[in-house]
Amino acid sequence: MKLILIKYGELTTKSGNRNIFINMLYNNIKKALENYNVKITKNRVRMFVETEDNIDEIVNILKNIFGIHSIVVATKVNTNTEEIETNALQIAKSTSFKTFKVETSRADKNFPISSMEFSKRIGSLLLKNIKDIKVDVHNPEYLLEIEIREDYTYIYHKEIEGAGGYPVGVAGRGLLMLSGGIDSPVSGYLAMKRGIKIECVYFESPPHTSEMAKNKVKHLVECLTKYEPSITLHVVKFTDIQEAIYKNIDPTYMITIMRRMMYRIATKLMEKNSCLCLVNGESVGQVASQTLTSMKVINSVTNVPVIRPVACLDKLEIIDIARKIGTYDISILPYEDCCTIFLPKHPVINPNIDKAINFEETFDYEKLITVAVENTETIEITNKEKEFDI
Ligand code: ATP
Ligand code: MG
Repeated sequence: MKLILIKYGELTTKSGNRNIFINMLYNNIKKALENYNVKITKNRVRMFVETEDNIDEIVNILKNIFGIHSIVVATKVNTNTEEIETNALQIAKSTSFKTFKVETSRADKNFPISSMEFSKRIGSLLLKNIKDIKVDVHNPEYLLEIEIREDYTYIYHKEIEGAGGYPVGVAGRGLLMLSGGIDSPVSGYLAMKRGIKIECVYFESPPHTSEMAKNKVKHLVECLTKYEPSITLHVVKFTDIQEAIYKNIDPTYMITIMRRMMYRIATKLMEKNSCLCLVNGESVGQVASQTLTSMKVINSVTNVPVIRPVACLDKLEIIDIARKIGTYDISILPYEDCCTIFLPKHPVINPNIDKAINFEETFDYEKLITVAVENTETIEITNKEKEFDI
């Protein structure tokens, strides 16, 4: 029978939180595989997925689950020398290689043959039955691993790299400010990788922004459900605030004020939805609103932690990740964002906080913010969603 062995990632180093980590990972895997007929069991060092369903499909899903160091597809046999030998030979014969090594570990110390001796025994068996191969203990092309336990023995030869990181949810929840751009979905991915369970907030300004732009954001969320099977998206109607800014604020400060409004609304939504931090796609120096002076003036409207996973990455590094996670092609679709539609020609690069506050006093933004928060639309997006119409 085939069985998938899951080795834990960084969580092995967090001894105090070990059980929380393992249970979270267990629940995440269970949820991700809920459409498959699987039996999942766990212990302190491993998790096991037994199934008769399509192994490759399951492995592909597991590859995106954070907290997994590596995945191994093993053959499970009874702990009985003859059975192990027959299967080890059969497994080795199914791949071609020139050099190899056998490595045995015994969880069951009652097994009568030592690990070293057993490796030698299987090695001789392979040498006798497979042509033109030799042992290389230092740098083998093919490593056959045998784990002997009391009842069963696992035989395998290839470790598939897992996604690493921490299981989504162990760090608590965060609210991701998700635009249709390249940076914020990458930030969401990186935050999830650190164990933050994300919810998303998107600011739209209909009729200045279209339904297509909103669908693009939904599609991005759907893409992120590879890592977190169900994600909540909050859509904030930002039109009245943007129009008020356009009417009342000096063009050079429009973006600064707009972003201060976004932060204020996001903070309220964050608290309403039991999130512990905001996450966004700001990157130092990328645009006028992302100079350190701008960030300070914008950030000063809130005292919650703001995580900026791509703050210190180059655009090309961000694009590499976006390509890898499949968000890039969606992000470059040409739909307008609420940040771009009222874009002034010369936004201030080093805004002054007193000036920003004075500008804001020209309209009753508190009321507009309360209405925007109250009218937020909440959508649940799952990995079973059909593609959104974009
Ligand atoms: P991105 O590529 O993620 O759009 P950007 O480089 O275009 O980022 P900005 O438009 O200045 O930068 O936005 C900076 C960050 O503010 C975004 O990464 C995102 O986290 C947040 N943000 C911007 N616009 C919106 C929006 N319409 N809804 C939600 N969050 C937004
Ligand atoms: Mg943007």
